[in-house]
Amino acid sequence: MACLALNASFEPLTIVPARRAVRLVLDRKAEILEVDDGRSFRSEREDVPFPVVIRLVRYVHVPRRFRRQVTNTFLFARDEYTCQYCGAHRRELRGRQFLTRDHVLPVSRGGENSWDNVVTACSPCNNRKGNSLPEEAGLSLRDVPREPNYVHLVWAVRKVTPVQAKYVRMFYGDDILALLERGYQSSIQA
Ligand SMILES: [Zn+2]
Repeated sequence: MACLALNASFEPLTIVPARRAVRLVLDRKAEILEVDDGRSFRSEREDVPFPVVIRLVRYVHVPRRFRRQVTNTFLFARDEYTCQYCGAHRRELRGRQFLTRDHVLPVSRGGENSWDNVVTACSPCNNRKGNSLPEEAGLSLRDVPREPNYVHLVWAVRKVTPVQAKYVRMFYGDDILALLERGYQSSIQA
């Protein structure tokens, strides 16, 4: 099980391996907010409780460029594992078809690798589009690509426990939590 790391402001930041969370605590860079009572980490001098939620002692400014970094794991999660042109879900792809990263404005025509210019596309749609704009290839986008909420992404690809969910709710409120849980449900069915 992994640990939810909160900023000093209690903003959920990311999920880290429990071992890394323990290291942050031992280095006095984080405090433990919630532990798994059933387990502990043994270090040289002391037994450290097994953390499931930690909070960084000092506020960490997360650079925009880091938040904006596009990985296929997060891109496919943002688009719910669905081709943004034909609507095919990953589980509907056949044979050698697979999900790809498509640049709406192609890189060859100055398109950037930014959240608002990349979408999930199945390989047939991506091949058909080639170096064209969607409308030039007779394709249309189902949604306007946007930079996603970082916590939403973490949630979509990693399981968050009820204890950890409590902190997401605390910071973002019930509405966001419900939204995140729906996203999580659709990703585990993928
Ligand atoms: Zn497609």
